Amino acid sequence: MIDLSNIVADIAAEMAAAPDRGEVASYIPPLAAIDPARFGMAIVTSDGECYEAGDAGSPFSIQSVSKVFGLTMALGQHGEALWRRIGREPSGSAFNSIVQLESEHGIPRNPFINAGAIVVADLLLGRSEPGEVLGEVLRFVRTLAGDDAIFIDDTVAEAERATGFRNVALANYMKAFGNLNNSVDRVLGVYFNQCAIAMTCRQLAQAGAYLMLGGRNPETDRNVVSVQRARRINALMMTCGHYDGSGEFAFRVGLPAKSGVGGGILAIVPGTASIAVWSPGLNDRGNSQLGSLALERLVQRTGWSVFDPP
Ligand code: GLU
Repeated sequence: MIDLSNIVADIAAEMAAAPDRGEVASYIPPLAAIDPARFGMAIVTSDGECYEAGDAGSPFSIQSVSKVFGLTMALGQHGEALWRRIGREPSGSAFNSIVQLESEHGIPRNPFINAGAIVVADLLLGRSEPGEVLGEVLRFVRTLAGDDAIFIDDTVAEAERATGFRNVALANYMKAFGNLNNSVDRVLGVYFNQCAIAMTCRQLAQAGAYLMLGGRNPETDRNVVSVQRARRINALMMTCGHYDGSGEFAFRVGLPAKSGVGGGILAIVPGTASIAVWSPGLNDRGNSQLGSLALERLVQRTGWSVFDPP
């Protein structure tokens, strides 16, 4: 019998004593100001329990973890046609890399690098206004999490706009290849604000629960996506969810998971658990240093890696 309360408490205590917490992202100024000592973890299980420790109730900037929710919405609206504009291969490059876009004619490698998420934002926009789309995205995550308190942090969004030169370059480059229908400004308006959604570990683990349950959201008891789509989103999280650190993360943890430069990670144990961890210090690939370590410890103690026998 796995005693999750004890395991989560042990891991939080181990992380509090960890010598190397990584470096907090500095290129978005409000993120640079976050205390690197923060650590939170929440596990929502398939039987509806929630186990948590540390700062699991503190909101943090989910950043690229939002790409999972953006992709889910865009697939719902555009179906498989989405894959004509975005690939499904790991990039092996940094999250904000532009190099592959040239040889691949403006088609981003996958939806979880910045270029891919910018195309997803264009798909979500369609002919709507950025403000309407952001309202829909926010409603979606609030419904998934069953919590209307989730918000967009305007200070972070504004800082992203003020410093997002690489994202502007990526969007312009793809626009030049004809892979954005809307103006760069409108698309990035959606992208920057979506990255600036703030959530707690508890809210994030709850919001990701549909990916553990074959597409069914336990809050509403409704299908968010089909079983096949949930499986495929999990596959993309496993292969592409940690940028150029995805192979290393699969090696160490072996779970579908998506990280963000705010230090959050959403990890899915299909059929069993949805997990959110947060620790703002990052490793050299831009993934949470202690978040990755905490998940590694968790799978060692639970046997929850998808590569473990059931
Ligand atoms: N908003 C961030 C950026 O575009 C997201 C990066 C991330 O979390 O990977 O730079």
